[in-house]
Amino acid sequence: MNQNTSLQKPVILLNIDSLMPQPLEIAVQTGRAPALQFLMENGTYIPNMVSSFPTMSVTIDSTVLTGTYADKHHIPGLNWFDDSKKEIINYGTGFRETNRLGLRRSIHNMLYQLNNEHLSGDVMTIYEELANMGIPSASINSFVYRGNTPKRLHVPRLLSTLTRFEDGEWTTKTTPTFSLGVFSKLRRWSFPTQIAAGNNKYTARELRHLIRNNNLPVFTFCIFQDLDFRIHFKGPMDLKGITRIDREIQKTLNLYPSWEEAINQNVWMVMGDNGHAPTGSRYHEFVIDLRKILKTYRIAKIQRPVQKKDQLILCVNQRMAYIYVLDNNLPLSAVIDRLKNDHRIDIIAWKNEASIHVRSGMKAGSLHYSSGGGYTDVYQQTWSVDGNLELLDLNVSEQNELSYGDYPDALSRLYGALHSHPGRFLVVNAKPGCDFKAQSTPFHLAGAAHGSLHRQESLVPLVISGTTLKPSYPRLVDMKEFLLKQCKSSRVKS
Ligand SMILES: [Zn+2]
Repeated sequence: MNQNTSLQKPVILLNIDSLMPQPLEIAVQTGRAPALQFLMENGTYIPNMVSSFPTMSVTIDSTVLTGTYADKHHIPGLNWFDDSKKEIINYGTGFRETNRLGLRRSIHNMLYQLNNEHLSGDVMTIYEELANMGIPSASINSFVYRGNTPKRLHVPRLLSTLTRFEDGEWTTKTTPTFSLGVFSKLRRWSFPTQIAAGNNKYTARELRHLIRNNNLPVFTFCIFQDLDFRIHFKGPMDLKGITRIDREIQKTLNLYPSWEEAINQNVWMVMGDNGHAPTGSRYHEFVIDLRKILKTYRIAKIQRPVQKKDQLILCVNQRMAYIYVLDNNLPLSAVIDRLKNDHRIDIIAWKNEASIHVRSGMKAGSLHYSSGGGYTDVYQQTWSVDGNLELLDLNVSEQNELSYGDYPDALSRLYGALHSHPGRFLVVNAKPGCDFKAQSTPFHLAGAAHGSLHRQESLVPLVISGTTLKPSYPRLVDMKEFLLKQCKSSRVKS
């Protein structure tokens, strides 16, 4: 317990992967989540925070921690193609695909390259910025962890053949307090359930260990990952997963003399990272096999290096995909025409020097836009837009104010993905209910999936308890600035 209340009020941000507003509200209203209910009733509840794009954890966590979209932080998704190395990067999209690519390479991609090579050096994570101010932080169970403290991580001998690191050891820069699977543990004798992550119980125990030993730093970011897995199979309205995590939060709040005391001593925040779109149950109707639609072209095989003859590379992020056109003699328009013929494909977007172009398999016409111009959106970003606004469900008022419908903060988020890495590529989104498939990608029939720009997977809840501060806009990209403000004020007063 923190005895130093006069000095600081630690900020604890719990990120519950795939927590969504509707099931959260139902769980709370039906008494299934008393701890979350307590935090909501004694704080601020924002049900519609806009996530990042693609709506995939690594991109979203990078957005939360750096306060930027993918155009600045450079983590394009869970699965993308690195043109400079001619290599498909996969941070672990599923067992089958990861196996084809090689488990060693995936672990290397996720644990090392993501933080040390891909995450842009031009942006600072909240951990780095706090460290520069002499403020310590903790990261528990997050794959995005870049901080200022060099740390030697090692893989237990039995598993060291799984990694590319010499003797299973490598040096990376993390937060001063760092927990990630078997690689770095806060409790010496603990056993994480998976190699690279812990389950809810494990994660919560690591957090409680910090509280019990009075070691909570000013900022702690803690990720609960199991809910996502359940929802992919059980659909978005599964409540059991929320109940289980709530039990862990109850145990954590119980470490204090009372729950009121827990929020007197700390700022507690609970967020979701992405929503889920329910998926249909008939394979032929709901799984969009991109290899079939593009079968007249030579598509790179993921288990071997890219060949000279390969014309296309498909990198699927569930309901979103990057389609790389390697063959310079193949015009983008030929590929776009094929995609447009499938009415299950929603947004199709690409960029040229000056602007971004949008088409759709569901709606007619085209739309172009670029940043800067006569329209001001609800986040005070300015744009020039022309063409059929319905493609991105944009609304424009007589005062040239621009607001969003089905695709929250669409212009900025789509811009982010299209400028997240070099290459000649298209971004495609699947219609609600559908999922993309390429070679060995996991798909989710009669369950749920995410990845796209659609509001179903883009609006997530945020609960803030123990402070009156709020982010300037309800977007995850605005979290970092808000957290920094809170950490600085936590440090001086209270
Ligand atoms: Zn997921």
